[in-house]
Amino acid sequence: MLDLSTYIIITFVLLYVILPLVLTRLIGVGAICKGADPQEVSFTFDDGPDPVYTPLLLDLMSKHRVKATFFVLGEKAEQHPELILRMQQDGHLIGIHNYTHKMNILTPPWVVRRELERSANAIEAITGERPHYYRPPWGILSLADLLLAKHYKFALWSVMGFDWRRNSAENNLKDTLLRQITSASAGSVVLLHDCGNTWGADPDAPKYMLLALESVLNELKNSKLHYVRLDEMTLTLSEVHVVHDDHEVSAFPDSRNEHKSPLLN
Ligand SMILES: [Zn+2]
Repeated sequence: MLDLSTYIIITFVLLYVILPLVLTRLIGVGAICKGADPQEVSFTFDDGPDPVYTPLLLDLMSKHRVKATFFVLGEKAEQHPELILRMQQDGHLIGIHNYTHKMNILTPPWVVRRELERSANAIEAITGERPHYYRPPWGILSLADLLLAKHYKFALWSVMGFDWRRNSAENNLKDTLLRQITSASAGSVVLLHDCGNTWGADPDAPKYMLLALESVLNELKNSKLHYVRLDEMTLTLSEVHVVHDDHEVSAFPDSRNEHKSPLLN
């Protein structure tokens, strides 16, 4: 028989880790996983910006006129503000992926909150816009993180091809993406990575991701699909939620492509 303390620990783990997972992944409440329109595709890129691969990715997006969403690490945003600014100037949406690539359930919730704020401040200092979209590393939220829904829209994904591994990116990614995107009954939110320096990833995997993505975009050139940022995606009712920002960006009125960076000017 289990003793009382074991029951308490099991209950805590179930509530802290499993409940958010069931809500966001299985029931699809509280996080954007897919769109309502099967002809909309939203490419999302995590873990950057990376000084080698992100510029190549931005070139590819421009060439194919694709608007995408970047979930960046605050620390890397501070190191490469010119890439954050270029993302904004190219018309992409910028979201947060934590300050460093830590797993939320292994980090005290007040540290997660503090580092999110630090990341949001870093991005706002570069772009003049406060980010409102958040994807936690590995897509894992804790129970405490659900309170962040007041300020951030959580974003997960519906399509992924294990592109953080070189072998998958080189051999399977193109076919996986084409199959999943073209057969989807909902708008695809595609998870990809423009940096290979995080734990568990192969450093040169983004090189093969870029090759696969270029092939996918070429093959889909004459399709009826159109590419949208996450904030442009048509959502089902369960995926829509409004956020409130204590740091509302009123000092930077609607200025996506016009605002000049306070840091870079
Ligand atoms: Zn990540």
